[in-house]
Amino acid sequence: MKAMVLEKPGTPLNLVERPDPIPGRGEIRLKVEACAVCRTDLHVVDGDLPQPKLPLVPGHEIVGIVDLVGEGVSRSRLGQRVGVPWLGHTCGHCHYCTTGAENLCDQPLFTGYTRDGGFASHVVADERFAFDLDAAADPVSLAPLLCAGLIGWRSLKKAGDDRRLGIFGFGAAAHIIAQVAIWQEREIFAFTRPGDIQAQEFARSLGVVWAGGSDELPAVELDAAIIFAPVGALVPAALRSVRKGGRVVCGGIHMSDIPSMPYKLLWEERELVSVANLTRRDAEEFFPVAQRAQLRTHTKTYPLDEANQALDDLRMGRLSGAAVLLP
Ligand SMILES: [Zn+2]
Ligand SMILES: [Zn+2]
Repeated sequence: MKAMVLEKPGTPLNLVERPDPIPGRGEIRLKVEACAVCRTDLHVVDGDLPQPKLPLVPGHEIVGIVDLVGEGVSRSRLGQRVGVPWLGHTCGHCHYCTTGAENLCDQPLFTGYTRDGGFASHVVADERFAFDLDAAADPVSLAPLLCAGLIGWRSLKKAGDDRRLGIFGFGAAAHIIAQVAIWQEREIFAFTRPGDIQAQEFARSLGVVWAGGSDELPAVELDAAIIFAPVGALVPAALRSVRKGGRVVCGGIHMSDIPSMPYKLLWEERELVSVANLTRRDAEEFFPVAQRAQLRTHTKTYPLDEANQALDDLRMGRLSGAAVLLP
């Protein structure tokens, strides 16, 4: 197999040839069709997240075809198209696993972080965390749904059912979740980097009712806001944009420090919460919604060996939509 490997955080990935991996008990092997690049990959590669498995194959938005199954896995999965997300394994018996919150498992494995991921021609996954996907769909457009879509969906649920929703940071997750929320007949207010006209135009092209800089406020108060950008300074900005009793959801795994802010921004029962990882239930809910809402993901493809370029384009904000690697 071919893989793009991180030897040391803060250094570029190297293209490596390895023997094809063999799935163990309860595992499957995928021939990777496409793997999208998530901001979390950037955090892993840059060393913002502690203690990755090393050497590591990053990538946790994997679409592929099952080409080998391990012991205890039904052979009927062979030849199926599946998607492998960030949550790659859970213990199944901790407090969180047994109370419907497996996203918070005490002993999880994360794809492309604490187990090898999909910046490769082949990857091994826990079969319980490999979701059946539409065999007729385009693998490139499916790939961003595996994290940007799933984490976005969980963030959207956390934001509640009210009508006026702000989204701070208009990248891969935002462009998917804005389409879902608009399909649900909600109004989306897109906040981008101040002066990022291109991102604002992209948001408008998807049907948002307002797009502006994160230093601006729309004329109406919002019911809730989701922050996808990894920027702590957006927390007070988002709290400022929501009404009394409104909620702000932080959707990212890593964020710069939240600056000190006046208590009155939180006062009047505004809520500030975070979203961590995903559950299999999120996937069961989200993929049918994605199909019904006829989501269209905007992607830019790169050959696998240009993974460093894709990461760099994401880091520099040169992408609208999602980068996808093709092995
Ligand atoms: Zn657990
Ligand atoms: Zn991700």
